[in-house]
Amino acid sequence: MSSKTVRTRIAPSPTGFLHLGTARTALYSWAYARHHGGQFVLRIEDTDVERSSQESVQQILDSMHWLGLDYDEGPYYQMQRLARYHEVAEQMIAAGTAYRCWATPEELEAMREAQRARGQKTRYDGRWRPAPGKVLPPPPEGVQPVLRFANPEHGAVAWDDLVKGPIRIANEEIDDLIILRPPPPDAPPGTLGVPTYNFAVVVDDLDMGITHVFRGDEHINNTPWQINLFGALGAPRPQYGHCPIILGDDGLKLSKRRGAVSVTAYEEMGYLPEAMLNYLARLGWSHGDDELFTREQMVRWFDGSHLARSPAQWDPAKLAWVNAHYLRQADDARLAALVVQQLARHGVDAGQAASLVPACALYQDRCSTVAELADWVALMFVDVQPRAEDLAAHVPDDLRPALQDVRERFTRIAWDKASIAAAMKEVLAARKLKMPQLAPALRVLVCGRRETPSIDAVLALFPRETVLHRLRGV
Ligand code: GLU
Repeated sequence: MSSKTVRTRIAPSPTGFLHLGTARTALYSWAYARHHGGQFVLRIEDTDVERSSQESVQQILDSMHWLGLDYDEGPYYQMQRLARYHEVAEQMIAAGTAYRCWATPEELEAMREAQRARGQKTRYDGRWRPAPGKVLPPPPEGVQPVLRFANPEHGAVAWDDLVKGPIRIANEEIDDLIILRPPPPDAPPGTLGVPTYNFAVVVDDLDMGITHVFRGDEHINNTPWQINLFGALGAPRPQYGHCPIILGDDGLKLSKRRGAVSVTAYEEMGYLPEAMLNYLARLGWSHGDDELFTREQMVRWFDGSHLARSPAQWDPAKLAWVNAHYLRQADDARLAALVVQQLARHGVDAGQAASLVPACALYQDRCSTVAELADWVALMFVDVQPRAEDLAAHVPDDLRPALQDVRERFTRIAWDKASIAAAMKEVLAARKLKMPQLAPALRVLVCGRRETPSIDAVLALFPRETVLHRLRGV
């Protein structure tokens, strides 16, 4: 390995949210740079003009921020670098490593059709590729050429993938890739054509001094072209690590159709960023048997080794377990702020209620997400509807006099946990009842739930008026 400063990057396309797979490779790239004291760059690959949007850019930036994946440079935008791609393209034309191709889409389709008919693999046949002694036809009128890379015809491309190990592809397998397309026919004069993915990535990785690329293995077929482009530019290439895809819990590729795939969705569902990072890190990388670790530990441990070669499976139950761990560790005031946000998303205004922080402290042990925690806290702000079967089971008619007694005492005690407990005990003693008779009834009537933490602690969180109101019909 060279002694150059490590520089990694993540290069999402703003055609949607930050996908979990991209978030994972962003995390690996970030951790690798941090481990080596290097730099991490964010690049927005927005050359798919039709599908890219500013909204997606913003969501990507927000997700990176939420995950705490801080970058040292960027965001760079490819659409702001068009002149640079054209400059490199001109150099390549001059050097004979790129050439113009005037073949029309119809012509290329006919070519492929003929190849299929002969039982051959479809590939560009090099019809416009200059060669010594070859006479090219005159360029046709009215056709705007594309620019193609003159891929080496012989030899092989080989690299030692940081994840997959040694890979070797014969150049005969690889055809001459389009690297630059002409501007649309109706574009104003002077409009620059847009580069294709492989070309823009290579120019960028080169200009940005990228030394290590971690990305999804759907790009593995692109890597030979990219390595050859680096070769044509006479530049050193990065090392590549291709991470296997993430499978859904059904064993199929994780996709939108089968559940949430964006970082944003998990934020909205009430997962904590440190839990997502920990979970994503483990999904494709290991450090011994460690399941729970901090960002700092990951940075210390992440040296590019122990990356899994086979696809990992998304496991919602494990993610919930990891999240529950971090939820228990989280500061109550932080949780309270997250709960307020979560409730606001559902139109519930929890305002500045003083009971928010103690409520989070009381309920967090039984929750695995902020959304669940918010459901508990919401009981204080939103009317509850006890279920008929709970009322039938836990609020029998013969308990009503005791409940009336409790309610009456609740009107005149100090409103705190100890006084609430004392009032309940007085009623139990006076009426020869046991706590397992009284507590479930109060839980159902006040919280609409059969199980809660200790009922005196729960009731003390509610405004007294709310409790009296919910017990009014007893
Ligand atoms: N824009 C590409 C993607 O989102 C980046 C691939 C790469 O890292 O080279 O898949």
